[in-house]
Amino acid sequence: MARTRRGRSVPLPGQLEPRGPEPERYGYVILGAGCAGLSLCHYLLERGVDAPILILDRKQAFADDRTWCFWDVEETPFSDRAIRRWNSWSVRAEGREVVHTSRRYPYLCLTGADFYESVLGKISTHGNVTIRLGEDVRFSKELDDGVLVVTSAGSYLAGLVFDGRGLPPDSAALEEARRKGTWISQQFLGLRLRSRRPAFDPDTCTLMDFSVDQGRGLRFAYVLPFDEHEALVENVYLSKTGAPPEAHRAELSGYLQDRYGLFGGDYEVHGEEWGDIPMTAHRFRRRTGTRTHVIGTLGGETRPSTGYTFLRVQRYCRELAASLTGADGDPEGVHPWRYGPLDRVFLRLLRERPERCPGIYARMFAGTPPDPLVRFLTEVSSPLDDAGLIGTLPKLPFLRLAAGEALDRVRESL
Ligand SMILES: Cc1cc2nc3c(=O)[nH]c(=O)nc-3n(C[C@H](O)[C@H](O)[C@H](O)COP(=O)(O)OP(=O)(O)OC[C@H]3O[C@@H](n4cnc5c(N)ncnc54)[C@H](O)[C@@H]3O)c2cc1C
Repeated sequence: MARTRRGRSVPLPGQLEPRGPEPERYGYVILGAGCAGLSLCHYLLERGVDAPILILDRKQAFADDRTWCFWDVEETPFSDRAIRRWNSWSVRAEGREVVHTSRRYPYLCLTGADFYESVLGKISTHGNVTIRLGEDVRFSKELDDGVLVVTSAGSYLAGLVFDGRGLPPDSAALEEARRKGTWISQQFLGLRLRSRRPAFDPDTCTLMDFSVDQGRGLRFAYVLPFDEHEALVENVYLSKTGAPPEAHRAELSGYLQDRYGLFGGDYEVHGEEWGDIPMTAHRFRRRTGTRTHVIGTLGGETRPSTGYTFLRVQRYCRELAASLTGADGDPEGVHPWRYGPLDRVFLRLLRERPERCPGIYARMFAGTPPDPLVRFLTEVSSPLDDAGLIGTLPKLPFLRLAAGEALDRVRESL
């Protein structure tokens, strides 16, 4: 796959490897060299932080492990590395296809490898960052004058700690969200493939294609066509149970046949992506101590109703870095509160009435012009945008869902 250079691993720049004597104390220790941990480090450095920063991760290397997409509603330090920008996207459901085009807000695609390469390159130009890979963080403990971080390989003292270790399926925070019943999983398997004949329309990506069998739970296909031959095609479940990887693969093979007429011998698979993103209204803790902040998915950055996380991570980390360095950053203000009730109602729809979702999404996409729709999906909409979108939703079912949500909240507060 020469064109998109997928699947390559990204070496750790030498300037970031452990070197010289270990400082007695780091100004900042970041747990997790993922999207949030690396982004926060970049924003801290951009704000002029020159105290020693240590980033710890249990992985051994930076792999091309995911593909991030987000709408280009604002500049991020990584947007210039996008490998593809689509101005048109489609939703297919109940026998119709809605295609939207926006010149103003393209949908950007950033590969995992390009993100890691870009952010590591930026961080490595500063002399005060060390990244230690292959170290599993066991625990951290707040002391009177700092935080002690204990890993599989040693211990470190920090002024401040940022926990960005993600949200694995067995995490305590996710267990709590599950117990309260306020979650479903966005589970997907994606194939990076190349077809032998032209099969894809490179101008339009497919956000949700519900024209697939819904027998196992709410399911759709997601297609990112890089050119006529090359695409990332994902099989996505929005449900509590999802499906085993082999079922995902079989369903993808069926989808490629039905939608594109591609049989097994017509394409080569160059890689796979797996994700299990919790979509939940659970309130994750932002602080677990006076000196310990929680960032990324572990801090609740995934939007409950969509699973989109990348832009929210950028916004939160940028503001957190500003607030920690004396500027007027407002990390708590980056996700406007008014999206909360709507997100909870959509999440309830996904949990309680999944069979109605394909029709409702198609109606919402068909009835809302592309720009207001994108602004809503990225939490930068105006009240007028929101009113227009809400106007496309079926009144009675949504009023019932909203009433159920309100009742649950009253019960919780008693
Ligand atoms: C395949 C995939 C595709 C996605 N696509 C999109 C998308 O298109 N758009 C979007 O908005 N969002 C997307 N997401 C969701 C979200 O943006 C990503 O999951 C994002 O990486 C979350 O950032 P994070 O920093 O919270 O976690 P991660 O990026 O997962 O980073 C967590 C890091 O912590 C490390 N770690 C965990 N436990 C320990 C430990 N005990 N000790 C040391 N290190 C530890 C991990 O190794 C990892 O490197 C996707 C997610 C996946 C999995």
